[in-house]
Amino acid sequence: MKDVVVIGGGIAGLQAAVYTAKAGEDTLVLDSDESLVYNTSNIQNLVGHDYIAGQELLRNGREKLEDFNGEFREEKVEKLEKTDNGFLVTAEENEYEAEYVVLASAGMTDYLKPLDVEFEESKEGPYWMDRHIVTDEDNKVMGGLYAAGLIRYWVYQTAFAMGDGTKAAVNLLSDKYGEPYQDHDT
Ligand SMILES: Cc1cc2nc3c(=O)[nH]c(=O)nc-3n(C[C@H](O)[C@H](O)[C@H](O)COP(=O)(O)OP(=O)(O)OC[C@H]3O[C@@H](n4cnc5c(N)ncnc54)[C@H](O)[C@@H]3O)c2cc1C
Repeated sequence: MKDVVVIGGGIAGLQAAVYTAKAGEDTLVLDSDESLVYNTSNIQNLVGHDYIAGQELLRNGREKLEDFNGEFREEKVEKLEKTDNGFLVTAEENEYEAEYVVLASAGMTDYLKPLDVEFEESKEGPYWMDRHIVTDEDNKVMGGLYAAGLIRYWVYQTAFAMGDGTKAAVNLLSDKYGEPYQDHDT
């Protein structure tokens, strides 16, 4: 039983997973290695970087996750189901049980068919994902299930995905610990 499984190891998913792993939660990221940012060679709009390539951001996120004892596996998720204790994640090669799940798979949502989750039409025009999962204002889809990044909102920017991954993780950890979670480095 994992504490947290993150489905999608792009920008939002890696950022959420770094938070939960740093908090000491046993965190696994499952990813099919198709992040939208993968082929962007020159992202210039991030504070803290003159410019940075998408691949470098993703590599850094994976390394940070591992530094905090999180795990990254390149494995596509095929099905997500609710169980009495949490969730059952069926991936290409393995099944995983998780207490909490974060959805961060951008436009890919077929694996959600077994779950009773709500979608809304994309309202903002010609983005390639045509629907978003409905969450509350704390990124929660249902008990134990959170979403971050393009899967739940249309803002097509790396900085937004990072912020939204952070928000999902902080809300998950606050729910789990029963008090507002804060991560302050010295
Ligand atoms: C050509 C291009 C240029 C861009 N340039 C910029 C830029 O200059 N500045 C900027 O701010 N933003 C830019 N963006 C936008 C940025 O890439 C996105 O906003 C950001 O990647 C969204 O993050 P995300 O985590 O929601 O999705 P992604 O980063 O796409 O991550 C989703 C992840 O989920 C995985 N996944 C999907 N389905 C499954 C499954 N079933 N099982 C396991 N894993 C799964 C995918 O493999 C992927 O890794 C650009 C996008 C594109 C396409």
